[in-house]
Amino acid sequence: MFGGLVELVKFACRKRRSRREGESLTQDEIDLIEQSMDGRGRAKCPDCGGRLLQGPTHGDDFNAACDRCGSEFNLMLAFGELMLGQRISDRGPRKLGERACLYGKR
Ligand SMILES: [Zn+2]
Repeated sequence: MFGGLVELVKFACRKRRSRREGESLTQDEIDLIEQSMDGRGRAKCPDCGGRLLQGPTHGDDFNAACDRCGSEFNLMLAFGELMLGQRISDRGPRKLGERACLYGKR
């Protein structure tokens, strides 16, 4: 009974979203991105559900930006699975404008 209550509190307090630049993505965000990957490099933004555009790559990790809200992430794949992620922009709407060339958007 007590154990169940502790689990309930842990569940309620679990951090679901990262918010600031440099913060690691939460497991919920990683799961959401991974579940939306369709094998052709397309995945959904955990903030708004927009499409993530792949940007600069460096070894096994790459940057991705949402084509809708502009949130940016650094993602690391290993064996075809998303292992780690970090937010590289503050969460929230933002124009892609100056990053257009990085993310191949017209
Ligand atoms: Zn988005």
